[in-house]
Amino acid sequence: MISKRASEFTSFIVMDVMAKAEELERKGEHVIHLEVGEPDFPTPKVITEAAIAALQNNKTRYTHALGLLELREAICRFYFNEYGVSIIPDQILVSTGTSPALLFVMLALLDHDDEVIISNPRYPCYQNFIHAAGGKLKEIKTFPEEGFQYRPRDIEKSLSSKTKGIIINSPSNPTGIVMSPEQLRHIAQFEKQYIISDEIYHGLVYQGKAHSILEFTDKAFVINGFSKLYAMTGWRLGYCIFPKEFTSVMQRIHQNFMISANGFIQWAGIAALTKAADDVAAMRTIYDERRRYMLKRLSAMGFTIHVEPTGAFYVFADARRFCTDSYKEAFRIIEEVKVGVTPGIDFGSSGEGFLRFSYANSMANIEEGLNRLDRYLSKHY
Ligand code: PMP
Repeated sequence: MISKRASEFTSFIVMDVMAKAEELERKGEHVIHLEVGEPDFPTPKVITEAAIAALQNNKTRYTHALGLLELREAICRFYFNEYGVSIIPDQILVSTGTSPALLFVMLALLDHDDEVIISNPRYPCYQNFIHAAGGKLKEIKTFPEEGFQYRPRDIEKSLSSKTKGIIINSPSNPTGIVMSPEQLRHIAQFEKQYIISDEIYHGLVYQGKAHSILEFTDKAFVINGFSKLYAMTGWRLGYCIFPKEFTSVMQRIHQNFMISANGFIQWAGIAALTKAADDVAAMRTIYDERRRYMLKRLSAMGFTIHVEPTGAFYVFADARRFCTDSYKEAFRIIEEVKVGVTPGIDFGSSGEGFLRFSYANSMANIEEGLNRLDRYLSKHY
């Protein structure tokens, strides 16, 4: 029999949309994918070349459980250069994506029934990592007019002796909104809780700059990885940075559950951090063009964009003028005009009435997808 815990894991609603898209594509339909949160660019050549060289040089063994020292040193330099923060290699765990790293953070941090604060809406996997480690969610409602950011007073009100952590995600999936230094400083003031900062979209910022939580507090876990910035989703490489007292436990957890991340892919990760800056800059410029275009088109169609998204590759558009049931609406859109969009309800009840559009797709596809959407809206509303 399936365990109670496992049966409570929620699924990604966007997968239902993708399954529908696949069904349509099998029938020969041309579906435009604006639902997928995955870079459309190939991985930069300097990175694939480093992986090939590593394979040819037989870098095919287990590595240190925390990750190759050379990669962890490169991550330390990266965080110093980007944010001016000093961390040491023993504060880093490299794993097969940020997803397992996040699970291991929860295992290291939570006792049974400990609570973690998450915002509503948020990235849908967070709740399952918390559940897997025996913890409980404390959801805090956030508001579109405030860029879906926590109100510190609401956090204060929901704290209890069981509250171990507060998850933040900037730039955010689904909103694309970047937290300001003031907002980060406010969150960092919660000294008894660990701040778990998902920084996977750092570097994909189109105005100003994202700040790391480590600029404001040491009592934090940072989650970061290579999937988004370096177009490396399928490589599975990510890491977390943790307070020094967690070194031994993170090492033990990883030794047992993963042994180590993939050896040759970690060498590719070093190339990403040290040699791919030009490739990243080129991708960022293109994302930004698409972002501006998408914002202009969606606003013209009557969607409300409460706060301009300046990071990641998402626009979380308020569609409440058109619909109240984002799930039904997303299905009607894909069935009628063959455009995949993610229903806002995927991210929690406060996302209802919103649709998430991803601009990790070519300009030609974005244009065609939005033309189809425009026709759909003119027909129905
Ligand atoms: N955090 C956020 C906010 C994400 O959007 C994703 C990927 N969709 C992840 C973490 C996981 O990334 P990965 O496991 O590929 O590193």
